[in-house]
Amino acid sequence: MNTVKLKDFFNFGLQEPINRLAYTNEDIEYKIKIIKKMQELGMKISTDKVGNICGTIVLGDKPKATIAIGSHTDSVYNGGQYDGPVGVLVGLKSVEELIKNKNCNGIVKVVIYSCEESSRFGNACLGSKYLNGTITEEDFDKITVQKKSEDGKTITLREAISESKKLLHQNVDNVEEVDKIFDKVDYALETHIEQYKILNKQYKKDKNKDLLGIVTSIGSAVRVQYDVTGKSDHTGSTPMKKRVNAVDTTALVGKEIRKLGKKYEKEGKGRASQVEISTPGHNRSFNQIPNNAQGLIDFRLLGDNTPDNVLADFNNILQKVEKKTKTQTTITQISSGSPVNTSTYLNCLIEDVCSQNNVQYMEMPSYAGQDTGYVPATEKTMLFIPSTGGSHNPEENTKKKFIKVATNVTTKVCTEILAEKLIDRISVDPSTISNSSVNIAKQNILSPNEVIKDGEVK
Ligand SMILES: [Zn+2]
Repeated sequence: MNTVKLKDFFNFGLQEPINRLAYTNEDIEYKIKIIKKMQELGMKISTDKVGNICGTIVLGDKPKATIAIGSHTDSVYNGGQYDGPVGVLVGLKSVEELIKNKNCNGIVKVVIYSCEESSRFGNACLGSKYLNGTITEEDFDKITVQKKSEDGKTITLREAISESKKLLHQNVDNVEEVDKIFDKVDYALETHIEQYKILNKQYKKDKNKDLLGIVTSIGSAVRVQYDVTGKSDHTGSTPMKKRVNAVDTTALVGKEIRKLGKKYEKEGKGRASQVEISTPGHNRSFNQIPNNAQGLIDFRLLGDNTPDNVLADFNNILQKVEKKTKTQTTITQISSGSPVNTSTYLNCLIEDVCSQNNVQYMEMPSYAGQDTGYVPATEKTMLFIPSTGGSHNPEENTKKKFIKVATNVTTKVCTEILAEKLIDRISVDPSTISNSSVNIAKQNILSPNEVIKDGEVK
């Protein structure tokens, strides 16, 4: 008898805007519905200082490994139903299956990471960043909402968390308050909708096959502002070769950044774009050469690309352009993060399970940042499921069948990890378990490379 019904959490087929911003009543009410199901499954509930929620169940009498399965429930403004919640529901449905398996020995946690979207606080993945120490409790007073409330008040993260906790405790009994829901777990798994429609394209080719994406690398963002100093002059009286036009620099930098972004994408190293230019202090007069300009650049890093490499490439571009335009530039780094390669061991295990269960899979990167990038776990990875309509909009749409496929694969992967035989293999030395020893059949693998090459990844 199944306790967890997907239709209680999703309106399949309905495309309406979701406004479930982090820590708002809408977000907490959705979490409460999930917590009640966790309790029905016999899970113990805890919440920590940043508002992460964790349901824990111990399977068997000799638990040797801890697995965390989860994602987020908060949305962007006018977002869709599936970005986030599918990962939590896959966790819940997997626990429902794992409970029935008497061979499992281990601790399974279903986790709702708080505030994954940056919409409300201008800062993403707060729950998972708190778990790995990227943000601490001291930051709770410094992080504030992006939009003031109607009466002009600015709410801090600490105030938002505290308000949300009141609603949580009023509605659910037996929720334990802890500092952190965990310091580290052995394994972390997250299912998420795929945000580039590559899987969906593949699904359309063969609708009878079950299909999944296995995430090999989780991207990070490096954001840079550069300021250009040129020289004001009369546009009519200054010969072209005498001009020191700050906007010429932003235009040329934009062109070079586009080239760099294309090169990164081809090499699987990320993407790059100039996202905004402005001319501070310039009054937009047609007859005056602007002496100041500013550009904002967003780099998305993948694989082994590091913030240092990217900044070196950007410096080369600026030097080349400065020479041409005779302007001067200074750089300010706004944010920086390194991409995370997911666990080869877990990915191999997932490939193995997919092959045995006739599920086609495709290895692919996540250009977008994800909670799994921060979650402190020895081995961690993500599954992508096909979605039409992209993400962060009401057209976001996935099928019930894909949530079920991800649940099935997640359950089987957990069973492999928690079954005695594999624990013995792991306790030898997990790093020695490679492709060959896990015995992977590669026949179901699909390469996304060709798709990426012809520019389908948008
Ligand atoms: Zn998400």
